[in-house]
Amino acid sequence: MGSDMTNARSPKNRDSVDQDQFLTILSREDALGRFEAALFPRAMLSEHRPISDALGRALVEDIVSDIDVPPFDRSNVDGFAVRSADLASASEATPVRLVLNDEIIACGTAPGRPVLSGTATSIATGGPLPRGADAIVMVEHTQPASGRAIEIRRAASPGQFVSYAGSDIARGEAVLRAGTVIGSRETGMCAACGIATVSILRRPRVAVISTGDELVQPGEKLRPAAIYDSNGAIVSAAINENGGEAVFRGAIADDEAKLEAAMRRALETSDMLVLSGGTSKGAGDVSHRIIARLGKPGIIAHGVALKPGKPLCLAVCDGIPVVILPGFPTSAMFTFHDMIVPVLRRMAGLPPRSDAKVTAKVPVRIASELGRTEFVMVSLVEGAGGLIAYPSGKGSGAITSFAQADGFLKIDALADQMPAGSDAEVTLFTPHVRVPDLVIVGSHCTGLDLVTAPLARAGLVVRSVAVGSLGGLAAAKRGECDFAPIHLFDEKSETYNTPFLGDGLELVPGWRRMQGIVFRPGDARFEGLGAEAALRAALADSACIMVNRNQGAGTRILIDRLLGDARPDGYWNQPRSHNAVAAAIAQARADWGMTIAPVAHASRLGFIPLAEEHYDFALVSARKQRPAVQAFLQALTSEESRAALARAGFRPA
Ligand code: AMP
Ligand code: MG
Repeated sequence: MGSDMTNARSPKNRDSVDQDQFLTILSREDALGRFEAALFPRAMLSEHRPISDALGRALVEDIVSDIDVPPFDRSNVDGFAVRSADLASASEATPVRLVLNDEIIACGTAPGRPVLSGTATSIATGGPLPRGADAIVMVEHTQPASGRAIEIRRAASPGQFVSYAGSDIARGEAVLRAGTVIGSRETGMCAACGIATVSILRRPRVAVISTGDELVQPGEKLRPAAIYDSNGAIVSAAINENGGEAVFRGAIADDEAKLEAAMRRALETSDMLVLSGGTSKGAGDVSHRIIARLGKPGIIAHGVALKPGKPLCLAVCDGIPVVILPGFPTSAMFTFHDMIVPVLRRMAGLPPRSDAKVTAKVPVRIASELGRTEFVMVSLVEGAGGLIAYPSGKGSGAITSFAQADGFLKIDALADQMPAGSDAEVTLFTPHVRVPDLVIVGSHCTGLDLVTAPLARAGLVVRSVAVGSLGGLAAAKRGECDFAPIHLFDEKSETYNTPFLGDGLELVPGWRRMQGIVFRPGDARFEGLGAEAALRAALADSACIMVNRNQGAGTRILIDRLLGDARPDGYWNQPRSHNAVAAAIAQARADWGMTIAPVAHASRLGFIPLAEEHYDFALVSARKQRPAVQAFLQALTSEESRAALARAGFRPA
């Protein structure tokens, strides 16, 4: 750190920061307020750079032009430089004849001869006005006359078609103010004044460290029980998006000595340090203990009333902000955007983010924890009465919820819910709403991507929101989607889907998915057996663990019928998807379960087919004529999709 940081080394309120504060949960506003008070005001990190390197950076001082622009009086058109007084009497009836001077003033040519009364000089657009001339006549308003002369049939006012020196920018004028963020137009202003270098705020260098024994960098092989480090990538990119210069220093294991060494090294060359993970005060979570040794005043807030994001830790170590973001990627991103971006942008001299906002109706009740400001990611769809915001059903550990959401809404700390039908303000992740052309809400299936592929290629935006069959059906009944993919089994009629449709919905056949028993290949309890024999073998072995499905799933009904009164070990493990069942068996947390053939094959598991499940679409009849709906219906029955579905192991209906 240079001497420009001296200000920050002694924050005014250092003594007021209570070192025990991390034992208490602070409100979002309190935490941010204390963090900013400990950091600002601080000396600016300025540097002198060529204007070509200054894009997106804030000017430290006013830019004052030391020349006039244009530097001389110049012609705005191709024509003739004249004395306007010579043309006072010119008219259609009485043209004035001017003798041409022996000179042509091209762009970039300094004139050599004066324009005397009764004469004119040929001049190009951008040419400097010659001595004596005070106006330009356009070439279109003249006629050649005999003896190197022209005839003019209209008067000219003084100054006509002339740009005067300094009329654009006057010498001594401040053309750009300190704090202005340099864009292409500002770059042009500097260039016009002949300014090649400017003083700008240096991008704060932000070291990024991920923590956790389980982390592996993308591109490397995933070992058992490990996960890819996604925070390192997202946080670094978000820093660069907000005026910082991220320096990613990799993932460090949960080892106090190693982590402390890495943090100290990072602090030597950084203006800010952002860690993620290890902030939950668990046994392996050591980062906050290290921070306490790194510098004064240390931890400012540990525990903020945010959801997701409660374990956020904010610290200042000898003037340098040090932040520990929660480990869960979604929590990490929300806290980063809400609490760290304002500080980072302020250090970079950038104005606060101006995120686009829209109002949308929330179709379902969202429960919220009293006392914590809660962020909920939403997908937007167009309903009959305006935009509708679907909360993303995935937890704070999910990363897709971020990529697939259009924005988020905020539930106040003092509210314990957002009632269904509320109008909410949605902060967009993009500058504009892009309302999807086709909205599919319901149960997700990998086959769906095969059918929508041609629509996406044709430029249609397809949004699919996975809320399960019943959630999709409810959305379709409210008219919030075009299609609800469902696979609901009616035990009374022993049929799929049709009994569940109501008024305004019609069934579009989708495809069949073979359900069956899955097991690890080579498991003698199942290999080569039929379903009944396999089940008998599984129940006979008390060490054999099953994995069930959630209540309400069609597959669960099948399992329960198969089991009768038996409740083998693992019965209460009830994941909500076909993929989770396959993963449990592939990783040997369970030995058998029930899933669909394509999922079993993708996980290279053994499969004993049992019964087909019908995956169909409830179509909202009122939306049938929409072009994207027609395109989907066409794609569904096309040879291309049917072949692709069959290849993936589905049987098109
Ligand atoms: P922690 O705060 O370290 O207890 O982590 C909470 C959860 O977030 C755990 O499931 C971690 O595996 C996960 N996590 C922590 N760091 C990362 C990271 N860099 N990328 C993805 N997930 C992470
Ligand atoms: Mg961890």
